[in-house]
Amino acid sequence: KQKVAVMTSGGDSPGMNGVVRAVVRMAIHMGCDAYCVYEGYEGLVQGGSYIKKTEWDDVRGYLGIGGTYIGTARCMAFYERAGRLTGAKNMILNGINALIICGGDGSLTGADKFRAEWPSLVEELVATKQLTQEQVEPYKKLNIVGLVGSIDNDLSGTDATIGAYTALANICEAVDKIESTATSHSRAFVIEVMGRHCGWLALMAGVAIGADHIFIPEKPRKDNWKEEICEVVKKHRDWGKRKTIVIIAEGAMDRHGGKITPEMVKDLLADKKGLALDTRISSLGHLQRGGPAGAYDRMLATLQGVEAVKAVLDAAKAVKEGKPQPETCVIGINENKITRQPLMAAVAATQQVAKAIEAQDFDKAMSLRDTEFAE
Ligand code: ADP
Repeated sequence: KQKVAVMTSGGDSPGMNGVVRAVVRMAIHMGCDAYCVYEGYEGLVQGGSYIKKTEWDDVRGYLGIGGTYIGTARCMAFYERAGRLTGAKNMILNGINALIICGGDGSLTGADKFRAEWPSLVEELVATKQLTQEQVEPYKKLNIVGLVGSIDNDLSGTDATIGAYTALANICEAVDKIESTATSHSRAFVIEVMGRHCGWLALMAGVAIGADHIFIPEKPRKDNWKEEICEVVKKHRDWGKRKTIVIIAEGAMDRHGGKITPEMVKDLLADKKGLALDTRISSLGHLQRGGPAGAYDRMLATLQGVEAVKAVLDAAKAVKEGKPQPETCVIGINENKITRQPLMAAVAATQQVAKAIEAQDFDKAMSLRDTEFAE
């Protein structure tokens, strides 16, 4: 009998609970035992009560609840081989032969490393007499599948990550509330949203609320951005608009890699010699990732969780039949179809965007993004 474990890792996102529910129930449906690994990789390294057999009823009520009931953590030990060795031992001791990990690009990089190292970890466990040859025999191959849980929608190879649309809706709801005050007092608001290397949330929120101006990391403003924004805001005000909304991603930059902060934008809009607008800053922070998962993320978590179980079972079948073990995959959604993508290619492309932004090669960053960014 296959034993399929699910884990949530890295930053939490709405929909992770839906993933846990879908994986547990699909695994049971397919005749497997389902396990939850608590607190991300930390749970693998700790073992014991961190790895629990989970039944159908245990995940009742999980679908719409934000965050992750089985916990998530950053685990330093897993960056080291020694930590991964202990993780491998705990998996074998629990009889787990398939692992489904829902997390961001860091978690998925860890997953890929774990699988690549697996045969040598197993050998080492025998060589150091932590486990016997007999014990490790059924666990020579590890099948891992990734699911992307991230509010930033920052992973290449998929149109949407689990949690992104809920975070976007949260931003819109917050801005709708802020707009009441903005319109009443004729104020300007500079709203900071999450996204260090990825402007998807800022850009889509800006479109969805009709912002006056948007700052994203991938497409920095030109050197004359200050004049540009003042001109746009003035034009809108001249047209009779009583509110000004500027959306700025955490990672917003100018063309030379200098950070553009909400304070800089506020000072500009409030400048007595210029627009002299009564300007406030609102940093939405963790409100963005909280609350119940939206309908889209519940759907994505469920369909992708089901596909992840199918993918690990397909891999197990191939191995059993003596065929080559399929490449580790991450489950995506592309043009409304649930897909399997090579995990490392998706992670590598994601990291390339971050590197391009850090190196201020913005044209490259833009060309690597799957989303078409409006001018
Ligand atoms: P996210 O998955 O949201 O990108 P992190 O980058 O913090 O978040 O990764 C979550 C966890 O995944 C880390 O705390 C660590 O345990 C594991 N991890 C991340 N990168 C690696 C890596 N290169 N090698 C091994 N484990 C990693």
